Amino acid sequence: MSDQQDRATIGVIGGTGFYSFFDSGSEEVVVDTPFGAPSAPISVGTVDGVQVAFVPRHGRNHEYAPHTVPYRATMWALRSLGVRRVFAPCAVGSLTTDIGPGTLVIPDQLVDRTSGRTHTFFDTSAVHVSFADPYCPQLRSAAHSAAPDSIDGGTMVVIEGPRFSTRAESQWFARQGWTLVNMTGHPEAVLARELKMCYAAVALVTDTDAGVSEGEGVSEAEVYAVFEKSLEMLKGVLTRSVVAADAIADCDCAQGGHDVDALIASV
Ligand SMILES: [Zn+2]
Repeated sequence: MSDQQDRATIGVIGGTGFYSFFDSGSEEVVVDTPFGAPSAPISVGTVDGVQVAFVPRHGRNHEYAPHTVPYRATMWALRSLGVRRVFAPCAVGSLTTDIGPGTLVIPDQLVDRTSGRTHTFFDTSAVHVSFADPYCPQLRSAAHSAAPDSIDGGTMVVIEGPRFSTRAESQWFARQGWTLVNMTGHPEAVLARELKMCYAAVALVTDTDAGVSEGEGVSEAEVYAVFEKSLEMLKGVLTRSVVAADAIADCDCAQGGHDVDALIASV
């Protein structure tokens, strides 16, 4: 692992349309990992006195589709720079007419409907992390305090993509009581947990999903347009979230049986 373990304590993973975070004064760090290169060089900078590492999830030019994002390398790279807390903004579809485009949601649960993605660092030892509550309560609280209008809680179902859901799939998700649909929230969240990093998703609703939409269903253009319109608001929320997170007490996310340092030494 990198010898730069004091570069940042908080990480931000930019989602669709969110490719840079710092206005100025950041430094680019190229990190190699046992799992290859992260989705982009990591930008390290200061936000109100807090050292932050930023990486665009899909690459700088959106070259990685949701199913080809190098999740393990990106999470490993963040931790190797010292990151222990991660905010993960992402674009989501809403599964209910109560939550419209432009709304921010801080989900408290996820459902994994992906397939074929590598979702663990532990291929050769029996490590079963607790994932009952996939998101850090402290980071969720920091994000919600940074965006008082956001919805506190909700279940995000993560689909494989890259296609959007069919109307029937979407209606099925909604009938389960699930709130949001997304393509990247897993395995990112569980890989963070395996590396004992706190993690919270900050979900920006860009559309209503096919099952609840009265129109033709979701279009890519619709997603990008809402994200672009909301980007400055989202950056403000993330800035305040980082500052709030820096001031909060420790939580239990880093507890658990396995030894991350031993893992790091073993790969
Ligand atoms: Zn935590």
